[in-house]
Amino acid sequence: MNICIHRGSNQIGGSCVEIEQDGQRIILDIGLPLDSEFNDKSLLPVVKGLDGKDPDLLGVFLSHTHLDHTGLLKHISSEIKVGLGPAARRIMEAALPFLPDKFPPIPHGWEYDPWKSFQAGPFLITPYLVDHSAYDAYALLIEAGNKRLFYSGDFRGHGRKAKLFQNILAKPPGNIDVLLMEGSTLGRIDQELRFPSETDIENELVEAFSKTQGLAMVHASGQNVDRVVSIMRASKKNKRTLLIDLYTAVILEATQNKNIPQSHWPEMALLIPNSQRGQILRKSWFDKLKRHSSNRVFMDKIKQNPNKYTLLFRPLFVNDLIKGECLEGASYIYSQWEGYWERGDYDKVKYWLAKHGITKQSIHTSGHAAPSDLQAFVQALNPRKVVPIHSFMPEKYPELFDNVEIHGDGEWWRV
Ligand SMILES: [Zn+2]
Repeated sequence: MNICIHRGSNQIGGSCVEIEQDGQRIILDIGLPLDSEFNDKSLLPVVKGLDGKDPDLLGVFLSHTHLDHTGLLKHISSEIKVGLGPAARRIMEAALPFLPDKFPPIPHGWEYDPWKSFQAGPFLITPYLVDHSAYDAYALLIEAGNKRLFYSGDFRGHGRKAKLFQNILAKPPGNIDVLLMEGSTLGRIDQELRFPSETDIENELVEAFSKTQGLAMVHASGQNVDRVVSIMRASKKNKRTLLIDLYTAVILEATQNKNIPQSHWPEMALLIPNSQRGQILRKSWFDKLKRHSSNRVFMDKIKQNPNKYTLLFRPLFVNDLIKGECLEGASYIYSQWEGYWERGDYDKVKYWLAKHGITKQSIHTSGHAAPSDLQAFVQALNPRKVVPIHSFMPEKYPELFDNVEIHGDGEWWRV
C-alpha cells in the first residue's frame, strides 16, 4: 500500500489522502483548507483522475460532512464515485441550496453501513461510526495488500455518542499497520485538560437561560446536531420554545432520526428571517416551508413574551431582531469554535451586540478528542506506526505516542 497525504500533515483543514494498491487508487476526504478565503479550483490537490478521466481512481471516501473534509468536492468530476454515511449525504444535499456559492449535487457511489465492510477494487473498507460534532461521522479501516490502515477522521470521546469511543477502546480493530490520526487539540489545550461533555454544556445552558430576562440567543451551527439537542433540552427545562430557521429545520429533518428534535415537536418552532423569506420566494421552496410550518411563529408574538423563547441564532437574524424589538433583556451565548470569533468572522455580530449593550458569553465544547483521549485511543489500537494528520502540531505526537512517523504533504510512502 502506498500512501500520500496531499494536505493535512501539518494543518487542521484541507484533509486529503491518496492510497494506491496495484495501480488502483482511492482518496480519503477532499477538504477545503480552513484559512482559504475562496473555494477555488486551484486549491485541488494534484491527484490524477479528478477530472473523471482515469478509471484507476476508484472513488473519494468522506469521513464526515465538515467543509474542511469535503469542501473541494465541488471541483471534481461528477463521474467520480463518492462514499459517505447515508445521513451525512442527506444533510449535505439538504444544505446545498442554502450555500452562498454554487455546489453541484454530491456524486453517487457508496453509502456506509456502520462496521459493515465493502470492497472497492483491491481495497476492503470498513466504516466505524464515531462521536464527532458532525452527524453521521466515520473513521475508516482500509485493508489492501495484506496491510491495514486506520484513518481516524475527526472524533472525540465526550459528545452525546461517547459510547462509540468507549466501544472502540474496549474492542479496537487489531493488527493495525498505520494509524493516520487527527490531533486537532494538540498544542491548543494542556495535556491534562479534559473537555466538558455535551451534558455539561446542557447544564451550563440551563443556568444561562434561567438568568436571562428576555430572549436567549445561542449562536451555534445547525449541523452540530449534538449541540442542537443540548440547546433544545436546556430550553425545555426552562419552559422556553426553541426557535429555528428553515435551514436548521431541513438539516434536522435530513437526519431521519426520530430522536433528534424536529420543527414539528411541541418544544420547537420555526422562525423565518426576512432574508430567508426572500430566498423561499426566489427559489419557490413552498413545499419545504409547508413541511416545517406547523409550529411557525412571527416576531410580533415573540415580542410579547421573549422570555418564553430561545433562538438558535444565526447572523441573518440580526435585522429581524432589531425591527421586531425583541432585544430587551436578551442574552447572547456563543456556542462554537472561538477561532471563528477571534479571526473576525463575526465582527458584524460583535458590533451589533455592543451597540445593543448585550455581552457575549461562551458555552462550548470541542468536537475533537482531548490529548488524554487520543492517548487512550492509540494505546487501544496499538498500531505499528502513528502518522499525524489534521493537526497544527505534528511535532507534539512523539511526546505523547510511541512509533510516530511524520510524513509531509505530497510525500509518497509505503506500508
Ligand atoms: Zn470535523
